[in-house]
Amino acid sequence: MSVLNPCMSCGACCAYFRVSFYWAEGDDAGGLVPAALTEPLTPFLRCMSGTNQKVSRCVALSGTPGISVSCSIYENRPSPCRDFAMSGENGIANDACNRARGHHGLPPLELPSPLLRSA
Ligand code: SF4
Repeated sequence: MSVLNPCMSCGACCAYFRVSFYWAEGDDAGGLVPAALTEPLTPFLRCMSGTNQKVSRCVALSGTPGISVSCSIYENRPSPCRDFAMSGENGIANDACNRARGHHGLPPLELPSPLLRSA
């Protein structure tokens, strides 16, 4: 049986946190992340455009958080996005995930539940 991954209808983390990472992850420095979608932050850090502002929303996020979303650069997304775990993944809660969800009016992902796992 296939269970939809909650992230596919969430996207809260992509519209809440500042997504910053080492500048050389950009494709203008040998990395994968499209540099055109980033902004300089410090001499060593850059961030996804749209995430360094009071009302944060990554420029690469498509769709509506809480309804249906996707990352337009999924294969080339930066390390913080790759490392960020959905709360409940591998049975481990992630308060940051649930904080972002709460900001968008979404309920926390509870533990433990097989529904929290993608199939
Ligand atoms: S790059 Fe993709 S996964 Fe990362 S914050 Fe932006 S939309 Fe979300």
